Amino acid sequence: TPTIALRGVTKRYGDVTAVDGLDLSIQPGEVVALLGPNGAGKSTTIDMLLGLTRPDGGAARLFELPPVEAIARGRVGAMLQSGGLLPDLSVAEIVELAAALQPKSRPVAQVLERAGLADLAKRRVGKLSGGQQQRVRFAMALVADPELIVLDEPTTGLDVEARRAFWAAMRDESGHGRTVLFATHYLDEADAYADRIVFMRAGRVVADGTAAQIKALV
Ligand code: ADP
Ligand code: ADP
Repeated sequence: TPTIALRGVTKRYGDVTAVDGLDLSIQPGEVVALLGPNGAGKSTTIDMLLGLTRPDGGAARLFELPPVEAIARGRVGAMLQSGGLLPDLSVAEIVELAAALQPKSRPVAQVLERAGLADLAKRRVGKLSGGQQQRVRFAMALVADPELIVLDEPTTGLDVEARRAFWAAMRDESGHGRTVLFATHYLDEADAYADRIVFMRAGRVVADGTAAQIKALV
């Protein structure tokens, strides 16, 4: 059974069709990049598959469940581009809070280590740089020990070294058999880290294959 199944999902904002009848199935253990330029509909697709945005048509299922149910069962970890951070908490406190909201969780210290936050555990979230805050979002996504990790442009704004460290940590995570879907507008990241690239433009999937197949098209 697929980990992610989107069937004919459509989302319109006024005259703009952000996502246009999109079909996508992702199997357990796949590492998939959702690649496309700004405005292609990547974030809207991710928001619908996480149950954060209601489709105007079609349906999203995670583990054959409505997204909110899969998330409530702790099967999904998500890293979005914004929101979710409470600036007055320390890094350790906010990851503890994320863990407390989940039915099961990994040890927080282990997750902080994995996200490169061990030295920043006592720092207040509001005092962190943008890149450090992204690492906090990453830690919050991992703490439930989820089978599926969904990441929306996880490295935007990071420098080269921070990107390398981020993807090294992700490689470790996917090596544990997790399913990963990440949105990016960088072909090099999709090429380096995904087994499969789903290329979107104007709300539709225009190509779906291995990195070599996609590179032959673009
Ligand atoms: P990206 O293109 O990097 O995914 P955006 O800046 O387009 O990010 O979107 C950031 C957030 O703003 C998303 O939650 C998205 O749904 C919302 N958003 C994007 N475009 C618009 C718009 N035209 N009007 C209102 N909200 C928007
Ligand atoms: P991407 O993540 O690929 O950059 P988005 O899903 O953010 O693309 O946006 C797809 C299209 O939908 C864009 O034209 C964007 O401006 C529009 N859009 C996204 N969210 C909103 C929103 N909340 N309100 C109005 N338009 C939006």
